[in-house]
Amino acid sequence: MALRLHNTLARSVEPFVPLDPSGKHVGFYCCGPTVYDFGHIGNFRTFVCADLARRALEFCGFSVRHVMNITDVEDKIIRRVRETGKELRDYTRGYEEAFFEDLRRLSCLQPHLTPRATEYIPQIIALVSRLIERGIAYQTSDGSVYFSIERYQSDGRQYGQLVTLNFDEMRVGDRVQQDEYAKETAADFALWKARVPEDGSVFWPSPWGEGRPGWHIECSAMSMDALGSSFDLHLGGEDLMFPHHEDEIAQSEGACAHSPGVRFVKYWVHVAHLLVEGKKMSKSLGNFFTVRDLMAKGFSGREIRFELLRSHYRENFNFTFDGLAGARASLARIDECLEKLAERAGGTRATADPSVEKEFRDAIEDDLNVAAAWGVVFTWVKNLNKAMSEGGLTQQAAATALATWERIDQVFGLGRPAEVAAPDEVVKLLEARQAARKARDFKGADSLRDQIKAAGWVIEDTPQGAKLKKA
Ligand SMILES: [Zn+2]
Repeated sequence: MALRLHNTLARSVEPFVPLDPSGKHVGFYCCGPTVYDFGHIGNFRTFVCADLARRALEFCGFSVRHVMNITDVEDKIIRRVRETGKELRDYTRGYEEAFFEDLRRLSCLQPHLTPRATEYIPQIIALVSRLIERGIAYQTSDGSVYFSIERYQSDGRQYGQLVTLNFDEMRVGDRVQQDEYAKETAADFALWKARVPEDGSVFWPSPWGEGRPGWHIECSAMSMDALGSSFDLHLGGEDLMFPHHEDEIAQSEGACAHSPGVRFVKYWVHVAHLLVEGKKMSKSLGNFFTVRDLMAKGFSGREIRFELLRSHYRENFNFTFDGLAGARASLARIDECLEKLAERAGGTRATADPSVEKEFRDAIEDDLNVAAAWGVVFTWVKNLNKAMSEGGLTQQAAATALATWERIDQVFGLGRPAEVAAPDEVVKLLEARQAARKARDFKGADSLRDQIKAAGWVIEDTPQGAKLKKA
């Protein structure tokens, strides 16, 4: 079996075949956070699933370029900037840092590129200009620019690739000023919004006058700049499917005039909703939790990650505190087994058990079927515990089992308790050291390694990258 993923474009599970003729390189874009507040657990379900997808692709042998944008200008942010009287960058910086800290706490791999919308204004303006040149976008008297769905369709293109739209019920022609509007009223949407007094100092010059980009165009500009006008995989929460992703397709395919059969994105993957205690999460219901709230209640990032990885990405996930407590217990069972295995294996090295690895791989390749994959893991742990309690597990077999877990953990990314417990400042030192090495500043890298050592941690360079271990 080879990797198969559910493609929203096809409404079905399809074999994953990248555009790269060598079949190796994969361009992967995930809609990132809007940095106006701390991310909640529903947001992080999507980011953990994106991390799972990336790790699964790498496990299957693909070389992935993972891009995740930072939306640092849109309606909600401007509202907050106005309310707080801060400068845009001052306001968003703190939440952006908090977001990456939460991502690390959940052991998500850092995407290779994390472009900020505000740093892509020239690319956004170029894309809007192209849409105007192609007759698909038009400028209004106030200096805003709108995307015309009607003109796009008369260009022979389809609006409604991810969702089935009823055009009779759509008020095409209505102009919608907001990024977010009710799903029933899909209409021409803003690509560039003319400056209004409420925008304060948030505006840029453009050929149409001062203003700012619409939210949807930001993702089209950043994804195509990083990955080209056609790339393999785009992931996001299912709440973004319409209008955000549909608009991304329209803007990109409209501007680039892709030939028939060529698409902006080959595979669209959508992560289902997260409910909390059976209900939609909302501040008024008191069931709204950020990652920070959960950690303040004593749960580790590792436990939260494990809980988020227990259900299939296409199923709505009911997050509960009972579930999280169950995650803690299950993870402790795995940790205990690994600890016993490590004692038994001593320093013996081995390779993974091919039959367990195959069963696990089959589950993951089946549209990231984590339920089946965890089934493989728990049966395997049960058998190992039985063998160990009966005294029938050799040193070599224990080493094989540990190597098997290493393989499995390339996908789940849970690590061992000590590996993920490094404090943020040490993790930041490690990142700085990696950056120094990349820049061939070996002296700087050595000094950072010494600082990490002084903090009580050592760096272990593994095939999966540098890891931190307690000294
Ligand atoms: Zn997006």
